[in-house]
Amino acid sequence: MSKRQLIIPSKIVTVNSKDEILTDYAVEIEGKVISKIVNVKEIDLLTYDGEIIRVDDKVLIPGFIQTHIHLCQTLFRGLADDLQLLDWLQQRIFPYENAHSEKSLLASVKLGINELINGGTTTLLDMGTLRHQHVIFDELISSGIRAFAGKCMMDVNDLFPSFKNHTNAELKETLALAKEYHNKAEGRIKYGFAPRFVLSCSEELLIETKEMMKDFAGSIYHTHSSENKSEVAEVRRRHNKENIEYFDHINILDDHTLLAHCIHLNENEIGLMKNRDTRISHCPSSNLKLASGIANIPRYLKEGINVSLGADGAPCNNNLSQFYEMRLAALIQKPIHGADSMDAKTVFKLATIEGAKALHIHNETGSIEIGKFADLVLLDLNDPSLPLSNRDEDFYSKIVYSANQKHISDVMINGDWKVRDGISLIYNQSELYFYAKEELNLLLKRTGV
Ligand SMILES: [Zn+2]
Repeated sequence: MSKRQLIIPSKIVTVNSKDEILTDYAVEIEGKVISKIVNVKEIDLLTYDGEIIRVDDKVLIPGFIQTHIHLCQTLFRGLADDLQLLDWLQQRIFPYENAHSEKSLLASVKLGINELINGGTTTLLDMGTLRHQHVIFDELISSGIRAFAGKCMMDVNDLFPSFKNHTNAELKETLALAKEYHNKAEGRIKYGFAPRFVLSCSEELLIETKEMMKDFAGSIYHTHSSENKSEVAEVRRRHNKENIEYFDHINILDDHTLLAHCIHLNENEIGLMKNRDTRISHCPSSNLKLASGIANIPRYLKEGINVSLGADGAPCNNNLSQFYEMRLAALIQKPIHGADSMDAKTVFKLATIEGAKALHIHNETGSIEIGKFADLVLLDLNDPSLPLSNRDEDFYSKIVYSANQKHISDVMINGDWKVRDGISLIYNQSELYFYAKEELNLLLKRTGV
């Protein structure tokens, strides 16, 4: 029989269909899966056959799900500030990504996964990079995180012409990677087909990739759209259509397509997103820092469009914390749509169960329910700088408006502890720091910056 663990926290924020917050309940994990959620009074703790984890001063929440991440860029944090999207790509990000060796990419990916897991993120969707994609997959697998990932595909690049590949080579490499890694690690790793954005992809690449995806059940098609006004204008110049209208024209939009950003959409495009059930990854920090704009998330939610959250890359944020994304997702809408828009509970769900729905894994993770994988986070909210009240409905406010990653004490993914008492069980923090600094210095020498 697989190992049993019984967690007894002060409260459980379940994010189940009734949004229940439970007090005096325990969560039992058998192997990887939540096997029971029971009232503590119903368990005989003296004869319990398994490990009992008494954390009655802590709050148990589902692990966060981030649906737009660039692990390959973590190394470049702070090296691309105060630029708008196309300059940011041309002057910094494309040259840096182009200079990645397997070793520098590995350092970047480790830094990113380390920060994400320490910050309570248990599932991510990564955009990959042009070369050495197997490095990203291998580290995702060995770290234990749940992930969708895929090679970033580019066969056009007017901004930085040496950073692209031939169409057929892109398709061939992507197919080989999908065959190798989709459903790897007992299904914990899934393929996310990732043509970068319209300006870096031929029409053939966009269409053929969508066709390829259909042979990999449970995979996702992931790209950027409508992030920046200059980008949208260039898409219009090339294709005589708005970005989303162009995707619809080439049959890219469906419920297995997830578009990052979606800031500059017209009425027709909003209708297309709704009717095709296409999903949006909202990245508020990135959208503000690159001066891209503010996506009309309250409107999208009113239309019933699925919205989830992502930190995007470290050089456009400059953090990878779901706490910052939640806080900003709420605050930036209030001056526009009113103080009661984007309440804390709505935002907390975007950070958890809505991310699972976006990836079609809501029967596996995204909430604390029997039968789901044990992707769990313990928060220590006994902090005088947080709200003091203990009413159930106040926990969303505490987490979304006030808390941050320092309040995370423990993180479990797939039934395995990845962080205990604030200490990563995966990465040695100082080793990781010095190794990554060394790799960054070598990479900067290669780029000539
Ligand atoms: Zn991005």
